Amino acid sequence: MRFSDRKDILKTKNVILISGVALLIILSVFAYLIWGKVRFIYYEATEFTMGTRIRVYISSDEMNPKDLANMVLREFERIDQKFDPYNPESVIYKINHSNDWVDVDKETFALIEAAVGYAKLTEGAFDPALGRIITLWGFDDFSSKNASSLTVPQEKEIKKALQMSGYQNIVLDRENMRIKMLNGAQLDLGAIVKGYALEKSYNIVKSIDKDATGFIDAGGEIKIIGPKYGKTFWVIGIKNPRGTGSIDYIYMKEGSIATSGDYERYFIVDGKRYHHIIDPQTGWPASYARSVTVIARDAVAADVLSTAGFVMAKDWRYVVVHFPELGAQVFMVLSDGSIKKSEGFLAYERKP
Ligand code: AMP
Ligand code: MG
Repeated sequence: MRFSDRKDILKTKNVILISGVALLIILSVFAYLIWGKVRFIYYEATEFTMGTRIRVYISSDEMNPKDLANMVLREFERIDQKFDPYNPESVIYKINHSNDWVDVDKETFALIEAAVGYAKLTEGAFDPALGRIITLWGFDDFSSKNASSLTVPQEKEIKKALQMSGYQNIVLDRENMRIKMLNGAQLDLGAIVKGYALEKSYNIVKSIDKDATGFIDAGGEIKIIGPKYGKTFWVIGIKNPRGTGSIDYIYMKEGSIATSGDYERYFIVDGKRYHHIIDPQTGWPASYARSVTVIARDAVAADVLSTAGFVMAKDWRYVVVHFPELGAQVFMVLSDGSIKKSEGFLAYERKP
């Protein structure tokens, strides 16, 4: 064998060896990626509760994800039945239809106390005692089917309902665990209860499997249970408030995101849109934003602050500066279509 032939054979052997190693590496990477996905089998369940579609997308090694998803949905049903002010069986209905003290359990007291705390924090922009006004506008019993039958109330009716509204009318007796409403005011927890249910059901899931991953979506309000496939981001679209599709995409591995929008529940009279987020100072639908999105660790904070931010949108500078001090990042679409966001929001808009 000539010297050059041996060199050629050696060269070929090296090439085969290197190709083999490269193939092995590629196969291992594929196996790793596929195994990662196989390990995380997601189960999806949906149900219509709380006037919206609840979607659970979950994976767990500890419990059958189907059972976990059902536990989440049962918790939403429980909270809906307990706190729906228009259900005669609910504790809120009882409080709203009594002129006297109503004894309540710990959970009810804590939720209403938290709502009053948020009302103070947002200087009344979020107000859990607007039941009279919400009923007057017809948003208590709203469906897209009856939207065409709704009418704009008269100014004097709005004034009267306003006099019978406001969180200052909620009296809390912590010692005796009882609550009383003054001036005929009525509770409506519609702007906090979805966040509350998200937080409670998240805690149930995590108490069973702290490593469970997935998310719970309550009509656009989302609580992340854990990163996708245990390691990567969930991509969440922010709905375009006019038209279809998304106007922005958010990348999150944990935490909560909530959007309040004028496109969720509304009716149109003479070309003008009347929607369900009420400015507690005027009794009319808040008119300076189309949608407000808030990212926070806690779903209750995200829910409350997106509603409050919507009401406060005239002072959007205040919102984008001060909400981050409360641990919340904000993305606002104002009524002229312009977009305003807090500085910290940018970090969620692309993979870091
Ligand atoms: P959200 O979709 O979380 O912004 O909540 C809107 C719901 O909260 C409405 O359908 C009403 O039931 C109630 N709501 C409306 N305006 C307010 C407000 N300013 N503060 C608190 N709750 C409100
Ligand atoms: Mg809300």
